[in-house]
Amino acid sequence: MQLTSANGPPAHILIIDDEPTVATHIRRIVESCGHRASACHTWTEALRAFGRGDVDLILMDAVMPAVDGFKLTRIIRSRARTYVPIVFLTGLADDNARVKGIEAGGDDFLTKPIHPLELQVRIKAMLRIRSLTQALEEKTRTLSRLAAMDALTGIGNRRSFDERLRSELQISAESGKPLTVLLLDLDHFKSVNDNHGHAVGDELLRAFGRLLAESTRACDVPYRYGGEEFAVLCPNSTTDDACSLGERVRAAFQRTSGAATAAGTRTCSIGAAGTDILTGELSPHAILTAADAALYRAKDSGRNCVCKFDPMFDEKAA
Ligand SMILES: [Mg+2]
Repeated sequence: MQLTSANGPPAHILIIDDEPTVATHIRRIVESCGHRASACHTWTEALRAFGRGDVDLILMDAVMPAVDGFKLTRIIRSRARTYVPIVFLTGLADDNARVKGIEAGGDDFLTKPIHPLELQVRIKAMLRIRSLTQALEEKTRTLSRLAAMDALTGIGNRRSFDERLRSELQISAESGKPLTVLLLDLDHFKSVNDNHGHAVGDELLRAFGRLLAESTRACDVPYRYGGEEFAVLCPNSTTDDACSLGERVRAAFQRTSGAATAAGTRTCSIGAAGTDILTGELSPHAILTAADAALYRAKDSGRNCVCKFDPMFDEKAA
């Protein structure tokens, strides 16, 4: 009886065995199932081959010089970002080796000499685990992408902003490079919803999100902070650099918003605060409070303008 890969596309199976004749024997069985096989005889070769990222299953010799199969399994498990099943092939029949193999991160065991049908059955079962795991990993990636995204505008949401702000502040503190936060708020947004309905309001928010995504450099990250308020994280930007970006966004919004929705020409107000002008402990709260105080002043100065944090005016507020 022959088991083939008829149920799925051919898989890539990595054989790791220090004895070339054994590796060749296993390779023939693997290929007879319709799969692609690569054989490695040393642990360094094996890590290189695995690092290429296209391996679906590993058949691992337990006893090898220098780094044995158990140790190599631990290394692979600690490095891999995806779950690849590992089956140990070994002459060791004792239970101790079985325990060691499973504890090291192996999934199953085959005792040498390898019986072709035994191996074919294991390959089939392990590849099923591999494809289920891949589907799960893909779903997890999609879910975490969705969890970080604002559903209306498609840009980052408040949760991903908070996470990124923390890590960017740390990077800024370590590298000494400035980091600036822009807070942007659509002026009189409530009147858009009141006068034109929520569908138009939503369309305006989407247009603003698109404008932010298009106007920012690759390293600047736009977010919907909440309601009609947006934020842009500008790594490696002084407050003045970020204000220039803010001014471009402000002007572009005034210029293009009229054609974007039925609500006519709209404007936005922007506040900026960066690590280059703030003093004292730089926490996410401190930089956000400062940017918010600057935004408040922009609103207070008649809206449709960019204000940078100024301790003279904003210190009390901040
Ligand atoms: Mg060996």
